[in-house]
Amino acid sequence: MPPLSLSRRNRAVIAGAVALAVWPVNAGHAFHWPWQKDKAAAKAAPKPASQKPAAAEKPPADKKLASDEKPVAFKCDPTTFRIIVDVGHTAESDGAMSARNVPEFQFNLRLAKRIVDGLKSGGFPETKLLVTTGKARPSLGRRVAAADALKGNFLLSIHHDSVPDKFMENWEYDGKASHFSDRFSGYSVFVSHSNEDFKTSLTFAKLLGRQMKAQGLQYATQYAQAFMGHYQRELLDKDVGVYAYDRLIVLMHPQMPAVLLEAGSIINRDEEVKMASVERQDMTTKAVTSAMKQFCFGAQPQVQPQTVAKSQPEASNQPQPAAQPAPREITSVPEQNSEPQASSQSPPK
Ligand SMILES: [Zn+2]
Repeated sequence: MPPLSLSRRNRAVIAGAVALAVWPVNAGHAFHWPWQKDKAAAKAAPKPASQKPAAAEKPPADKKLASDEKPVAFKCDPTTFRIIVDVGHTAESDGAMSARNVPEFQFNLRLAKRIVDGLKSGGFPETKLLVTTGKARPSLGRRVAAADALKGNFLLSIHHDSVPDKFMENWEYDGKASHFSDRFSGYSVFVSHSNEDFKTSLTFAKLLGRQMKAQGLQYATQYAQAFMGHYQRELLDKDVGVYAYDRLIVLMHPQMPAVLLEAGSIINRDEEVKMASVERQDMTTKAVTSAMKQFCFGAQPQVQPQTVAKSQPEASNQPQPAAQPAPREITSVPEQNSEPQASSQSPPK
């Protein structure tokens, strides 16, 4: 059971649906929500003592204050700001399965590479791609350790969404019995109150949600609903789709602000096709890059509803880096070479 503040009613609702926690239809599903099976890894995840993020302002230690959810002023030098773009899951434990039987990891890797290229060509030359290998559970602690070892200033984890098994329907695709759910779609953005820099994480999350919305995209609203049971989340920004996901390892433990983007649903048959398209990948990349520029140049996220979608609203009024550095080769960081210190998890040899 997750250490989340579910209501008694919700506990009762989910009491008879414990099987949801393992999402048995697709084995990879279980680790789409990694903390479900990784409480031990959460406790054991290494916490390097040094390497403070380069945030302009730090939140107070007390994470219970309601004011923690207000955006903070944040500025950075984009030429030195190191963004870690984390590819969700691994080739061995590849996350959710799409309606057409393509593992989530493939979607994550393709989109993350595109985002890295977009950030580098957009004036963030220090951006790094983080690819982790190995089984799901031990990979989570190593993933965080690798991000810390890279001395990242910000972690953005890229995922694609699915649904709990109870929403799955059967169909046949390419001659194979398959599963889909067209009921839900959309992106969503997650932050953890347990991150050491929750305020800064939330500031970027809101900017990212606003830019996704500006691309004409809708966020996934189901996570705010009681029928999601185990998977219900606190909606922190109902305008642009930012949720709290407090016990997620990749958001809790990095020594830097961290945000997880579910770029869209790959169990929805229509949205899966869109997620595979260059056009949609470019929309997401543009949203991330625009949000990061606003973030770095100190823009405050606005929470008022935007009735008119705008494309790259920052383009005309944001200062641009003096030079557009040429895109570099993407840096892949297998975790075997980046374990910064001993932990209770034995790294693979
Ligand atoms: Zn995932």
